[in-house]
Amino acid sequence: KTIQVELAEKRYPIHIGSGLFEKLPQFLEGIGWGRERRLMLVADSHVSPLYAERVLKPLEQAGFTVGQITHPAGEESKSLHTLERLVEDCIRFGLDRSGAVLALGGGVTGDLAGFLAASYMRGIPFIQLPTTLLAHDSSVGGKVGVNHPLGKNMIGAFHQPAMVVFDTDVLKTLPEREILSGCAEVVKHALIWDASFADWLMEHHRQLMALEPEVTAEAIERGCRVKAAVVSQDEKESGIRAILNYGHTIGHALESVSGYGAFTHGEAVAVGMAGAALLGEALGTATEVFPFTRELLAAFRLPTHLSPVWAEEELLAAMKRDKKAKKGAYTFVLPTGIGSVVLQHGVEEAAIREVLARLRGGES
Ligand code: NAD
Ligand code: ZN
Repeated sequence: KTIQVELAEKRYPIHIGSGLFEKLPQFLEGIGWGRERRLMLVADSHVSPLYAERVLKPLEQAGFTVGQITHPAGEESKSLHTLERLVEDCIRFGLDRSGAVLALGGGVTGDLAGFLAASYMRGIPFIQLPTTLLAHDSSVGGKVGVNHPLGKNMIGAFHQPAMVVFDTDVLKTLPEREILSGCAEVVKHALIWDASFADWLMEHHRQLMALEPEVTAEAIERGCRVKAAVVSQDEKESGIRAILNYGHTIGHALESVSGYGAFTHGEAVAVGMAGAALLGEALGTATEVFPFTRELLAAFRLPTHLSPVWAEEELLAAMKRDKKAKKGAYTFVLPTGIGSVVLQHGVEEAAIREVLARLRGGES
């Protein structure tokens, strides 16, 4: 299946399916890339031994020159330090402005290698080759970047990929917890945009968790369609794109307070979506969204409650530091129903405290 992302100044395809890495040379031809373009394949230390060869072989057989960089797996690699090493490898390889980057991996490699492409020699093209379910989200939309010790994604750019090729075969080796983490972003895309997608997920959650090929491809496709639709309306996030942060205000705070690692990104966002549902009900933007939200997340064995270990004051402080926060006021994406949300600025602290308490209580 192929989806087109339509932007003001360009468009690019997302290919989703089984065995697609073998077709990479044709896909490159499709976007007008010839053999003279040197390619640098970036992957992490888990993904590289599993899949680099699957990408390299067809490309080399087709006559492409491909260099290879492996960075350590994990969020810590999304750093300026790692970026500097990647740049060094690119220079030594002789990558120039006619070259391109192939980002093979999850969101960490996609964000890191994408930012390499955005900044190397003031910007060269790149292709996203996502290998996690979560990366159906991160590989589309052009947000790339690295972390700073004082904050996640603090250094970055908008740099759209020239193409996304999601070969679903690679998901077979994904650890269980990473599958469920990716399911959280699939659920997010349904909850913000498409009630029938949410119902479909409820019906097919077992097949998706078991990675049944047809259901998995459909879930990725529908998730990418939502992402592409939102991004095409607002590429640089001056408005509606912010709805993609549903569940992320509390989610990011939880990740930050717990020190990145206690939760997967999806687990933290799941708690955040449960919180946003409760907050929406409390503030009157929606009624009766929490029960379905909780049920859907629980179906994917995702958490919807908050352990008392994470102190309320620290969570609130982290929410205030959020990039999206304006003048210290709290900004939330709140549900208006299942499948629709609204961006709400200036949410009162008292309401958030109440929701945090309910997330800790028996309620969820
Ligand atoms: P990740 O890239 O760290 O991958 C998770 C783990 O799975 C890693 O250990 C990785 O080595 C391993 N892995 C990846 N593919 C595998 C495979 N096929 N088989 C076996 N193991 C595999 O993490 P992620 O969850 O994919 O992405 C999280 C990152 O994405 C965060 O840094 C987050 O900020 C970012 N993100 C970015 C955007 C965006 O729009 N740019 C959106 C959402 C998330
Ligand atoms: Zn996310």
